[in-house]
Amino acid sequence: MNIQAFSPLRERHSFHVDALARYWVDYDSVGELCAVLRDAAGFGLPMMPVGGGNNLLFVSDYPGILLHSCLQDRSVLEENDREVLLRVGAGHSWDALVAWCVAQGWGGMQNLSGIPGEVGATPVQNIGAYGVEAKDLITAVEVLDRETLGLKTLPAVDCGFAYRHSRFKDEWKERYIVTHVCFRLSKKPEFRLDYGAVSARVEEQGGLQQGSEPQILRNNLQLLRQTILAIRDEKLPRTDKVGNAGSFFMNPEVDRELYLRLKTLYEGLPAWELPDGRYKLSAAWLIDRCGWKGRRQGDAGVWPAQPLVLVNYGQAAGQEILDLAREIIHDVQESFAVRLHPEVIILGEDA
Ligand SMILES: Cc1cc2nc3c(=O)[nH]c(=O)nc-3n(C[C@H](O)[C@H](O)[C@H](O)COP(=O)(O)OP(=O)(O)OC[C@H]3O[C@@H](n4cnc5c(N)ncnc54)[C@H](O)[C@@H]3O)c2cc1C
Repeated sequence: MNIQAFSPLRERHSFHVDALARYWVDYDSVGELCAVLRDAAGFGLPMMPVGGGNNLLFVSDYPGILLHSCLQDRSVLEENDREVLLRVGAGHSWDALVAWCVAQGWGGMQNLSGIPGEVGATPVQNIGAYGVEAKDLITAVEVLDRETLGLKTLPAVDCGFAYRHSRFKDEWKERYIVTHVCFRLSKKPEFRLDYGAVSARVEEQGGLQQGSEPQILRNNLQLLRQTILAIRDEKLPRTDKVGNAGSFFMNPEVDRELYLRLKTLYEGLPAWELPDGRYKLSAAWLIDRCGWKGRRQGDAGVWPAQPLVLVNYGQAAGQEILDLAREIIHDVQESFAVRLHPEVIILGEDA
């Protein structure tokens, strides 16, 4: 276990703003986590589990204890000729897990290649990309109950998974810490190519091979992974070069009436109909139309290749990035009567 007081957070989260945590704790086992929770109970400090910090923005110092899992174990719980059930520790790197599964010839995660972060956050955020979400793969989430210090296994159906959302983000936020996540992968996967430029780029590489032999499956999974990594590389800034947390805003969902009104006003408005009859709009398009793409205020800016991504060009404070986000929210609201909501978790006094 590693405990650090007044721990600098700049290198512990991908926005790379300067902030301190009153305490930072790396724990290596559930027993250590229980000991920290027990010992800290009397101090009345706030506590929060964190992973790689790829979806966090610190607007001020964190006044409590940040709990970071180093549980990186990975085991096969069940396997047959169709599927594999995996159990993975919360501290395991997400993309290393995807790479490993692809190399084994197990399908399901390949479209989620390149998403930075650790396994513990995947059910919390219900991460998603290129037509696939974590909820499509998660079968159960193992947690530690912060109050009772007992372990529980929560079936996926109880987790309230929705677009970038789960019960871990609201009612369970103060209650559970994810220790392990169980995933179901397929040995006969269906490939999702119908999103963005994926299909065209796969064709450029010669397309998927026909056949069901294990080596062909591995090649196809690898091709899809490499294609998605390349597309992401072109659109998103590397967090070690330019601080960011991926998409800052979620794509807004609006009712049919507003969608139809906007559609008549704005030719080419990108939108997707949802099963409940509402419409999802492209936050990137709305932000772009408000003229924010590529704009910069000090060291806080909007990424030129993807206006959904707010960036820290070096020395921006968390508050400056938040101020920029609020200006964008205001402009989109004024122009389109659509409210943008941050996907990034904003932590601090003014959040
Ligand atoms: C360049 C870039 C690209 C991105 N692209 C995508 C994308 O395509 N799709 C997508 O969905 N996201 C994307 N993201 C966002 C981010 O990668 C994901 O949200 C990821 O799951 C964050 O993982 P993390 O370990 O860094 O979590 P953190 O940012 O540390 O934490 C995120 C949340 O999870 C909670 N949490 C973390 N660990 C635990 C735990 N053990 N128990 C309980 N709660 C926990 C935290 O309290 C916090 O609320 C991107 C981010 C970046 C920087």
